[in-house]
Amino acid sequence: MYTCGPTVYSHAHIGNFRAYIFEDLLQRHLESRGFKVERVMNLTDVDDKTIRGSRDANLPLREFTAPFKQAFFQDVDTLQIKRAEAYPAATEDRFLKDMILMIEKLIALGLAYQAEDKSVYFRINRFPEYGHLAHFDLSELRSTGRVKSDEYDKEHVGDFALWKAWDDEDGDVWWESPWGRGRPGWHIECSAMATALLGEELDLHCGGVDNIFPHHEAEIAQSEGCSGKQFVRYWLHCAHLLVDGQKMSKSLGNFYTLRDVLAKGYSGREVRYALIRVHYRAPLNFTWEGMEEARQALTRIDEWLRRLREAAAKADAAEQINDDKFGAALDDDLNISAALGHLFEQIRESNRELDAGIAPARAKGLLEWWQRINQVLAFAAEEEKLPQEIAQLVEERQQARLARDWRKSDELRQQLQARGWEVRDTAEGPVVTRRLSTSA
Ligand code: AMP
Ligand code: ZN
Repeated sequence: MYTCGPTVYSHAHIGNFRAYIFEDLLQRHLESRGFKVERVMNLTDVDDKTIRGSRDANLPLREFTAPFKQAFFQDVDTLQIKRAEAYPAATEDRFLKDMILMIEKLIALGLAYQAEDKSVYFRINRFPEYGHLAHFDLSELRSTGRVKSDEYDKEHVGDFALWKAWDDEDGDVWWESPWGRGRPGWHIECSAMATALLGEELDLHCGGVDNIFPHHEAEIAQSEGCSGKQFVRYWLHCAHLLVDGQKMSKSLGNFYTLRDVLAKGYSGREVRYALIRVHYRAPLNFTWEGMEEARQALTRIDEWLRRLREAAAKADAAEQINDDKFGAALDDDLNISAALGHLFEQIRESNRELDAGIAPARAKGLLEWWQRINQVLAFAAEEEKLPQEIAQLVEERQQARLARDWRKSDELRQQLQARGWEVRDTAEGPVVTRRLSTSA
């Protein structure tokens, strides 16, 4: 499975993470069905934007991109996205060699040429399948006239760069090649690195819908042009995360990074929930109301689990719960909304059983059922730790209660509420949960 990764010139926004979370859902569901998934994700650490960024920051390219790579991995962990097997970066020597070899082969086959401007282009007229993935008619490309064809010395306006010849803007960013100094194009990066790490034929290749053209179309042309084999068996593309009906993107400026959302008091699992809950091929509108709904849904799950754990405490054996509706929904093109629907149906029903006094073995069985499906959802319900500041307030309040200082205890409860936490006193001690806003 190959998944197109981030361009590391700034922090990824949560639209990017919608794509990565849908890919994570796919991987986890396949694994739950017994498949072994080997996944690769590239890091684009050289392109116009990274070069411009490093120049503006007055830093060498590598130093400029390093903190964004690091931040990306932090965000991946915060969102419980499984790490890929490998994260090849475009500027690694071994992959640059592969890219150059691939371009040489394409030239030898007549599928690429070096133009007057010294850059090397793919000759799309020699690859009749070009445009098939996007259902794109090449003659349209010619007639739009939006791309200035005289800007380069390309044979066809749609010919895309495999190797970009160095120019002043690139500063000290260049590599030697048979065509002179320059750098690889974005598309060849993915073809070369996917092939180097996963072979010439992939089962799955994913990305957002904006990757279909030209990026994935170009990957097919390059890879199949070289190997003569079918590059990818299944393409999966997710629809965009929207803000007020428009694609969330850096260029429109309508984006939030994960850090922005965390700074508003939401947790990684709440963001994960908000981004995973809609079918990947349906557009998803990002709203703060949606974040609040995510919090509410997770609080319901947490509360259900707390009750089940309490009820299961004295159980020896666990009843086997044979309910695969959740997995069956995901089998159907990752129908996550139906899958979550089944989960909440199960919660509703077992809450009724809990009210009536559930058998401990059944409660334990339900917990095991949850653990199975949470391998796929990864909502990290059990592991979530309280922020230290919150844990301390809870502890102080507990001390106040033991000292029967009710006024202080109430004050501390209010402080917790102001920070978004609710505390309830139970026989087992205080239980702290996320506070639901009254409007949600
Ligand atoms: P980029 O860094 O722009 O190449 O994007 C990295 C990944 O995020 C690609 O798979 C894109 O298709 C995807 N992506 C970018 N913006 C969005 C969005 N608003 N919603 C969903 N996926 C997106
Ligand atoms: Zn790619």
